[in-house]
Amino acid sequence: KLASREFRKDDSVVYVGKVRIGGGSLAMIAGPCAVENYEVMDTVAKYVKAGGANILRGGAFKPRTSPYAFQGMGEDGLKILKDVGQKYDMPVVTEVMDPRQVDLVCRYADMLQLGARNMQNFDLLKECGRTQTPVLLKRGMSATVKDLLMSAEYILAEGNKNVVLCERGVRSFEDSTRNMLDMSAVPNVKGQSHLPIIVDPSHATGRPDLIPSMCRASVAAGADGVHVEVHNCPEKALSDGPQALPPHQFLALMGDLRRLGDAL
Ligand code: PEP
Ligand code: MN
Repeated sequence: KLASREFRKDDSVVYVGKVRIGGGSLAMIAGPCAVENYEVMDTVAKYVKAGGANILRGGAFKPRTSPYAFQGMGEDGLKILKDVGQKYDMPVVTEVMDPRQVDLVCRYADMLQLGARNMQNFDLLKECGRTQTPVLLKRGMSATVKDLLMSAEYILAEGNKNVVLCERGVRSFEDSTRNMLDMSAVPNVKGQSHLPIIVDPSHATGRPDLIPSMCRASVAAGADGVHVEVHNCPEKALSDGPQALPPHQFLALMGDLRRLGDAL
């Protein structure tokens, strides 16, 4: 299989713009859950850039649990994300939810995010596989590591080799965190696959007090990066506010991760 270690012995490296992911280079993906307006995007980007993030995130198409919740700004949000990314010289990643949106999102994004809820949307996987735009494939909330790797296989089989996996927690009986972070997925995937894998402690824990330690644990476990939601005013965020790190906490975390990276 194309994703397997047998197929490729060395670690694959994925370029998102000029940013290298894998083979020892860490992706530091940060930004608000959703693109809300230009001002918030610009403010958060300024802070995450200052902290040392190298890829900017922001959702324009949001997979919300409730149909009455904010669904994202759509193409207007993509435009804002791209403009702000260019302003701060950061490539951008944003979620695509529907095969019919892939062309549109590719015009604005440097990396396509496939969300947990769509990890087994096979038509969407195939459509992203027919592009050469790097894909951030998030683990489904009830998907096994094997399932995750088979979903990656759908993208690779269509010809797009630029796949980065993301552990973001799975559903469990534990209800004090949003999901249960499966940290062993990192070395587990590394044993079975050459693809880079990053960790998203924001969606995994849903708790800002746990995000810094889980980011440090991710780097220590061998992850190729982390994905963190940041908002300049979490209590006013239109989505995932309760789990967003305020800028000063993000800056402190990035300093810690740099020191840890140097020590390892
Ligand atoms: C997100 O990144 O905002 C998101 C919805 O993530 P997930 O698909 O992991 O829930
Ligand atoms: Mn989110």
